[in-house]
Amino acid sequence: MEPYGSPKWPDHDPPRPSYLPHTPRPPEPPPVRPPIKHSSIAAILFLFGVLGLVCAGAYFSGELQHLLYGSSATQSQAPRPGLVPFGQRQDPIPGLEEADAPLGTPGPLGRTSSSYKFLAVKEDGTPLAYSPCRPIHYVVNSDLAPPSWQPLVEEAVRQASEATGLKFIYDGPSSEVPSPTRPGYQPERYGDRWAPVLIAWSTPEQVPRLTGQTVGLGGSSSIGLSNGYKAYVTGTVSLDAPQFAEIVDAPSGEEIGVAVIMHELGHLLGLDHVDDPRQLMFDQASWVRGFAAGDRTGLAQLGTGPCSKDF
Ligand SMILES: [Zn+2]
Repeated sequence: MEPYGSPKWPDHDPPRPSYLPHTPRPPEPPPVRPPIKHSSIAAILFLFGVLGLVCAGAYFSGELQHLLYGSSATQSQAPRPGLVPFGQRQDPIPGLEEADAPLGTPGPLGRTSSSYKFLAVKEDGTPLAYSPCRPIHYVVNSDLAPPSWQPLVEEAVRQASEATGLKFIYDGPSSEVPSPTRPGYQPERYGDRWAPVLIAWSTPEQVPRLTGQTVGLGGSSSIGLSNGYKAYVTGTVSLDAPQFAEIVDAPSGEEIGVAVIMHELGHLLGLDHVDDPRQLMFDQASWVRGFAAGDRTGLAQLGTGPCSKDF
């Protein structure tokens, strides 16, 4: 499938300046920290779009993008992004809100299951994930949402947070409409930080991939640094407003609505579909209403990725 969005950012790679010691004493070389090539965020921001819970047989999986580095990064003499004044940068000051340790831990697994799949796996075999050391901020465009949207989102986010240990912070409403080319850094709209996750009720006119029986899409954009670090930085959940309204109007509809949002949050956090109807990440409508053993086993790994203050 096509990536949900592949913003093209200009290369402006900033090698970290090296500092001379104050004294001429040479013996102990300072701890070597490889320069972090930050700019290649350009070449590496991808958004994985995935089909929603009601897929009508069609199957799309997140397509792993292998090109995670900008090749011209080492040529640039531009200063590090954090040293460029606000308003002239292509990405935010690194390390915002990044703690020294994960902010939480995944909830206990009743039992483990191998019935899960990641959208992207790194060279070391671990899944591409958000940093667990900073909160995931999110905003909601509820212009087209049913009146009961807020407790549904809160419950879905609560369960995603419990399963991963990741902390979510609701930043309030947004008028932003999902776009396949959504920039990961929108300082005019959101300030000097990575754009928050956007949860938006949309129409198939706004989001063509919601056309048909697809009720939702979810995916995230990632960065890759020259030291090998990779992580998601932001993402989008798009919900088909007319279909979602029908769902929540039906018996047990709000419970299903929560499950739909949870399924898309599963994609957002890095889970792919599985061919197992007992899991919420099954690619078709099913009776599953919550994260099952496989979903939770995968989400627990997605909540324990590496931290970094370099992005
Ligand atoms: Zn899906």
